[in-house]
Amino acid sequence: MNSMWWPPNESFAAFAHQGLFLMLSTLATFNYVMATLTGPGLLPKQWHPKDPKDTQFLQYCKQCEGFKAPRSHHCRKCNRCVKKMDHHCPWINHCVGWANHAYFTYFLLFSILGSLQGTVVLSCSFYRGIYRYYYLTHGLTHLASVQFTLMSIIMCILGMGLAIGVVIGLSMLLYIQLKTIVTNQTGIEIWIVEKARYRLYRNGESEDEFVYPYDLGWKLNMRQVFDEDCRSRGDGIEWAVAKGCDQFTLTREQLAQKEEKRARTRTYKCIGNVTGRWLPIWSQGWRVCVAAPCTDEPRIRLQPDDIIKVTRFRKHWLFGERVPTEKELADGKKRLRKGAIRGWFPRRSVIEINEVIQDCLDSSGELSPSQNGHSQLKQQQRNGHSKKYM
Ligand SMILES: [Zn+2]
Ligand SMILES: [Zn+2]
Repeated sequence: MNSMWWPPNESFAAFAHQGLFLMLSTLATFNYVMATLTGPGLLPKQWHPKDPKDTQFLQYCKQCEGFKAPRSHHCRKCNRCVKKMDHHCPWINHCVGWANHAYFTYFLLFSILGSLQGTVVLSCSFYRGIYRYYYLTHGLTHLASVQFTLMSIIMCILGMGLAIGVVIGLSMLLYIQLKTIVTNQTGIEIWIVEKARYRLYRNGESEDEFVYPYDLGWKLNMRQVFDEDCRSRGDGIEWAVAKGCDQFTLTREQLAQKEEKRARTRTYKCIGNVTGRWLPIWSQGWRVCVAAPCTDEPRIRLQPDDIIKVTRFRKHWLFGERVPTEKELADGKKRLRKGAIRGWFPRRSVIEINEVIQDCLDSSGELSPSQNGHSQLKQQQRNGHSKKYM
């Protein structure tokens, strides 16, 4: 289209215009390939901090069998801990993190600029093409340069749609990425800070007391991502922090949040089969399907008598981790059951067992929930006492 609308051999400006388009396409492709090949920077497996005393401030990752460095998070899809993880991007089939943040942002920027230029070229060509007959009959032959065939007009419309889609979609993504870089706060960290403020507020402390440690002012924040050779500074493990903070300010807050979450945890027991489907319309009914949580977190399969530690509660769905059975534990790492161990499941297939155990305690007076909870629970179910929990 461009060679018909503004042929590059016509003038220097036309040549430069064509060159600019090729340059933007090349830069977008180059940064895309580099973001994929470089990867986000994975934390080595079984990672430990230099000073063993520091482990008390860090979270442990069971899958990687090591500690999580500050700002690192475990990605379920990469199945590794990722340094300064921002999000997992299906388009580059990798996470966006410490090492490829700049490449990813440049990829977005050049794709948007290239698509913007493409949109202008295609829409101008389209306009000239459909008015070709008018130009020819009114003596404006120099404007009648664009000639369509059926194939080329279809391709032109399709290309225009794609280019506009890319501009709109990636502009929003670029805006989010730039905000992340300018404030030095990844998508995950925004969430942690929000929870930190809420935690302080709930505990009766001032919400302003929590200082986010990695915000060093926009200039320094940007320099952490973009520098001359596009490589991220430092090692992705140790980070420069704001005044009054240390390396573990955020990880301590994460541990405190985890501790409070643990206190909220309630134990449930499965009383029916759970298929692990996203919309279990046949087994659970439409009510459960309508209220299905809108997240990409996994759904778990359950069998009767499974024990689940639940941390999030909705009216029809619960989120928790299944406790491995004794048989599974005895077999070590060999996986006997398919599917995720942590995720969402329908509430109507489980009963809360703490309450049942509480009932047992009330009647018998002396029962250790961990030792006898199971047999007592079965006894209760046999007696029909647990019906009220279903
Ligand atoms: Zn991990
Ligand atoms: Zn990932």
